[in-house]
Amino acid sequence: MYIGCHLSASKGYLAMGKQAIELGANTFAFFTRNPRGGSAKEIDEKDVEAFLKLAKENNFGKLVAHAPYTMNACAEKENIRQFAIEMLKDDIRRMEYTPNNYYNFHPGSHVGQGAEKGIEMIAEVLNMVLKPEQTTTVLLETMAGKGSEVGRNFEEIKAIIDKVELKDKLGVCLDTCHIWDGGYDIVNKLDEVIAEFDRVIGLDRLKAIHLNDSMNDIDTHKDRHEKIGQGHLGIDAITRIINHPALKDKPFILETPNDEAGYAKEIALLKSLSN
Ligand code: FE
Ligand code: FE
Ligand code: ZN
Repeated sequence: MYIGCHLSASKGYLAMGKQAIELGANTFAFFTRNPRGGSAKEIDEKDVEAFLKLAKENNFGKLVAHAPYTMNACAEKENIRQFAIEMLKDDIRRMEYTPNNYYNFHPGSHVGQGAEKGIEMIAEVLNMVLKPEQTTTVLLETMAGKGSEVGRNFEEIKAIIDKVELKDKLGVCLDTCHIWDGGYDIVNKLDEVIAEFDRVIGLDRLKAIHLNDSMNDIDTHKDRHEKIGQGHLGIDAITRIINHPALKDKPFILETPNDEAGYAKEIALLKSLSN
């Protein structure tokens, strides 16, 4: 299986690769820039080169980079939306230093404009930033539906994809905590939820999984991640998720509240539960 967690990008790619290996991981996630601010470090080509070699030698799966939380492609304020466009353009450019990986982002929050308007604005931004020559696949993350988040169900994700021209550059990252909080019963009806994803979006779009337990019950739209096996999903449901035929070959990224030792433990546990 491909499993990893969020790592700090402050020491560069090679440092993340080495840390991933120490934790027992063979993929990882990282913020492309300060998750709350927006500043980005310029890329050191030697560092990237050394990382790519290490990743190849250790059979790493695809990386799942994460855009900053502050990015809002459907902000009502034009300057905030412009900032999102600039960040996306620059992140996609920088992702090409590590070709053929994934770049995940939260579609946005429509803040009172309505989901339909939000969907339109997000697609418009994607049509501005996606390039035919890019090797990076941009992933829309399934959201918990907290506040005015767009992407609160499979239909909203599909509606964005439908409006984007370069669809082959787009995929979906399924967050298990978010869809549970969003009302999808992956504890008791995993097969049905996956069938619904296939019917609405298409399983060919599913590229990565954010593997998180949830502090809250189904349909609560809270988005509070819990450690694996300690939340409302529980270890049995999580075991079924990591072994499901439609999911098991995707990169699983942990975004659980853990320190390094905690992540290493979760990674070891999940590997032991993977068939
Ligand atoms: Fe996320
Ligand atoms: Fe997530
Ligand atoms: Zn979350």
